[in-house]
Amino acid sequence: MGLKMNPPEEHLNRQMAGVAFPIPSGLVQALRNARHVTVLTGSGISAESGVPTFRDAQTGLWSKFKPEELATRGAFQRNPKLVWDWYAWRRELVAQAQPNAAHLALVELERRASGFTLITQNVDGLHQRAGSRDVVELHGNITRVKCFEEGLVVPTWKETDETPPRCPRCGGRLRPDVVWFGEMLPADAIDRAFAASQACNVFFSIGTSTLVHPAAALPFEALQHTAMVVEINPCSTPLTARAHYALRGTAGEVLPDLLRML
Ligand code: NAD
Repeated sequence: MGLKMNPPEEHLNRQMAGVAFPIPSGLVQALRNARHVTVLTGSGISAESGVPTFRDAQTGLWSKFKPEELATRGAFQRNPKLVWDWYAWRRELVAQAQPNAAHLALVELERRASGFTLITQNVDGLHQRAGSRDVVELHGNITRVKCFEEGLVVPTWKETDETPPRCPRCGGRLRPDVVWFGEMLPADAIDRAFAASQACNVFFSIGTSTLVHPAAALPFEALQHTAMVVEINPCSTPLTARAHYALRGTAGEVLPDLLRML
């Protein structure tokens, strides 16, 4: 069974009033027939919520640091306060941000699809705040913290003058529950992501540079398993030439228009 659609309307095949972005009819048809839709998102989907992507220039106090030099175990061991403070600043940015039209469109796509998997590389939790129910988080979530020594998530801890704070169980330093460069991804998340990429009929790659592995392999996995692969990104990536459709717009403009066409 394909997407649960709104009642057919005669004018669906025409350029609908209010739909600014040209949506290919082959994509609309494939979505209507799809048994399973899989979506991979990257930091670009949150750009319209005001959360900077990794490759955007960092601003203010943090402009002299490269994320790749802060988001590692080595960086934390060398200067735990610096890394904790950087994440505290990013956590604050995320707390002030609101889900945008693209996050909301994916909630609606999940509601209408008979089978749907949302995989994200983002750590901002904006998909969940928009209402997506089952999100495969490949890189963790910035709103959670865990013990640097034991790796266990710590829901509450005592505030002291020390930064970072200490784990209430073992006294180790606390760190954000995100996957740093050089660390393994959570095994259950990566297994679910590969399985959903292999099983889907339509795969969307949205707002990701397709550079950070293993997430970058997922659209190619879907291609190998004969899915239609669709990229939504204003810039080209290593996936663009291989995608069936590369929609060159922002996620916030393309996804709501795509939904209107279904
Ligand atoms: P990236 O920074 O490498 O690439 C972002 C991509 O988004 C680019 O290709 C860019 O052209 C595209 N883009 C920018 N604005 C867009 C828009 N409005 N609509 C659609 N596309 C847009 O990010 P990545 O591929 O996600 O990988 C880098 C890593 O950064 C990931 O591991 C992720 O965990 C981490 N990260 C996450 C967040 C977040 O949670 N919001 C923010 C920064 C970095």
